[in-house]
Amino acid sequence: MKTLFSLFVIPCTLLADECYQFQRPLMGTEFKITTYAPTKAQAETAAEEAFAEAEKINAVGSDYIADSELLGLSKKPINAPIPVSPLLHRLVSEAKNMAALTDGAFDPTLGPLTKLWRESRRRHTLPTDATLAAAKNASGHQHLACDPYNKTLTLTKLGMRLDLGGIAKGQAADAMLAVFIKYDLHSTSITAGGDVRLGDPPPGKKGWQVGVRTFDKNQESSTLTLSNCAVSTSGDLQQRIEIDGISYAHIIDPQTGLGLTKNPVAATVIAPTATQSDALATACCVLPPAAAKKLISRIPECILHLPATASEPP
Ligand code: AMP
Ligand code: MG
Repeated sequence: MKTLFSLFVIPCTLLADECYQFQRPLMGTEFKITTYAPTKAQAETAAEEAFAEAEKINAVGSDYIADSELLGLSKKPINAPIPVSPLLHRLVSEAKNMAALTDGAFDPTLGPLTKLWRESRRRHTLPTDATLAAAKNASGHQHLACDPYNKTLTLTKLGMRLDLGGIAKGQAADAMLAVFIKYDLHSTSITAGGDVRLGDPPPGKKGWQVGVRTFDKNQESSTLTLSNCAVSTSGDLQQRIEIDGISYAHIIDPQTGLGLTKNPVAATVIAPTATQSDALATACCVLPPAAAKKLISRIPECILHLPATASEPP
């Protein structure tokens, strides 16, 4: 009887589902939700709650909002455990895990260096050697400790500053999809700038159509049909600064402490979650192509797309 009921209800619900879209500026980019829901009211309720989740992540984990809990960490004494909210603890712990996985190519402790990059952009000059050396000295994920039991974070170097800019949009997209799943609206996609989190396919479709940029003027973007995964693209299409004839991308090379100078800087990663794909796409921009491919081949269910021009000869 129960089975008969489900068989009857599910197809009718799917047939009746309509597509609803919501858009909002957030985290310096545009967030977009596409969902299939039985009623507009259900879609709106989930969308409002999902945007609120992303706002919460931004308020706690932004390195642009002066009074964010994240930036508050830099004002605390070093070498002493800092009690933090469960949300910040989760965001930072996930980021630290991705730093370990990528051997520091993605590193949320590069805050002193990303701050210098922004100053360089404003002033059109590079930092002095001494300033750069001090910022490098205050960076490195090995100087950040996360205690999962007491929910504390410990910074062990003076001048440390965290920057979740390379992962927070992915974390927000995951949190937003989780809200839709809670409301049983599984056919939902979340776009957060270059990060896309996909739930079940749209009704009657094999998947969501996701355009993957090639970063090559002579090559068309390819379209993939995907569901229940995430796709992130990192690159330098918008943000480069030119100083003394050298162009620096906004993604920092932890070795030099400066923006990447290779051109193009671009990578697209498909992964089970947007938290992973976001951090991995940033890491794959930093790594040489062969190292990026090796990293991604070690991680289950992950796929890497590099622009043709960034690939090494076979
Ligand atoms: P994404 O667009 O996801 O690649 O993130 C770029 C942002 O992440 C930058 O604007 C910085 O805030 C931060 N970032 C830059 N370089 C790195 C890096 N190597 N590891 C982690 N975060 C970085
Ligand atoms: Mg990223």
